[in-house]
Amino acid sequence: MSGTAESIPENHWRNRGLCAGHPERECWFPEEYSGAAAARAIAICQACPVRVECLEFAIKTRQSEGVWGGTTPYKRRRIVQERRQASRAN
Ligand code: SF4
Repeated sequence: MSGTAESIPENHWRNRGLCAGHPERECWFPEEYSGAAAARAIAICQACPVRVECLEFAIKTRQSEGVWGGTTPYKRRRIVQERRQASRAN
């Protein structure tokens, strides 16, 4: 999910996200992540040119709310768990 454009450089990935200035921005912070709004945000994220940067930022900064990089908070927690397990196995 993109933040406010005023405080970050114009070419920053946040300003290149498909959610930046999107008329349905509330979809990225839905009341429930199993509903249509979240599904719409996730679908848009799949075509976003900065999806990977967005997802890694959300994981690194432990974003506990919102759709970031096409993932819900639950999905991000799963990714973190899987990465931890993978690093232990190596
Ligand atoms: S991946 Fe999704 S949340 Fe992230 S910048 Fe793109 S549209 Fe926004």
